[in-house]
Amino acid sequence: MNADLHAHSNCSDGSLSPRALLKRAAERGVELFSITDHDTLAAYASLEQESSGPQLVVGIELSSRWFNSGVHVVGLNVDRGNGHMAEGIKEQARARLDRAAAIAERLRKRGVDGSLEGALALADGDFVGRPHFAEFLVQRGVVDSQANAFKKYLGDGKAGDVRQHWPELSQVIDWIRSAGGVAVLAHPLKYRLTRSKLKRLIGGFVAAGGEGLEVVSGQQSPQHTDQMGRICRELGLLASCGSDFHRPGLPWSELGSAVALPHGVTPVWSRF
Ligand code: AMP
Ligand code: ZN
Ligand code: FE
Ligand code: FE
Repeated sequence: MNADLHAHSNCSDGSLSPRALLKRAAERGVELFSITDHDTLAAYASLEQESSGPQLVVGIELSSRWFNSGVHVVGLNVDRGNGHMAEGIKEQARARLDRAAAIAERLRKRGVDGSLEGALALADGDFVGRPHFAEFLVQRGVVDSQANAFKKYLGDGKAGDVRQHWPELSQVIDWIRSAGGVAVLAHPLKYRLTRSKLKRLIGGFVAAGGEGLEVVSGQQSPQHTDQMGRICRELGLLASCGSDFHRPGLPWSELGSAVALPHGVTPVWSRF
């Protein structure tokens, strides 16, 4: 099964429209596909299940907080019409705006003025995120690339990495479960946690009702795939996989490019 259950459209910080994304997934041979935009289900308003191409799974990637870490939870197979989820999405939009103001204030203290207006102007629609701040910093000539904007100003532990506006991990899991979805811990190896801290995170995630682990995120080493597969089997978690595609041109996160799930795990789609 060529499954890609993690991808972003221009409803959040991806570059392709939902329709173009679905078309690209079909061309890349994806059979089971989910668009999981950051904190929004807006992509699905403009999409319908086509008779050909991949089977669509309604999904979302919710931003949350676990102690001092920012943690992403993918919700799969959620009911788009669910009221709790809709309420959660509204709260996330508000949190994004409040966070954007806080990021701008932090950048102002670092000598960069006007970044809130700048980022909001670049964010067409109601989604504003760190990539818009990165783009603004490049346009202003503060840094020479978005990668350096993250490295110096916005990435893990930098001034613009503001997390306190996000709801707790358990809250976003509740929204997903209320909407009938499966909560999957996204890219567990991207949080740069020590092994014991990652174990604690996964323990907390399961205790809060989380049921799946993104065993494969894009191109990753066989060691990492084995490590995640082992945790999945030990804890009886469902295994998911996705490219985390944002835009064409990045081969390690191309649609349908995630490496295969390891043996002996139960795929999350057994639940759909
Ligand atoms: P946000 O949800 O607003 O916190 O933004 C998170 C998004 O920023 C991620 O999904 C990536 O698309 C992007 N991002 C995070 N870290 C980096 C980085 N180091 N370089 C480029 N983009 C990044
Ligand atoms: Zn993103
Ligand atoms: Fe993420
Ligand atoms: Fe993502």
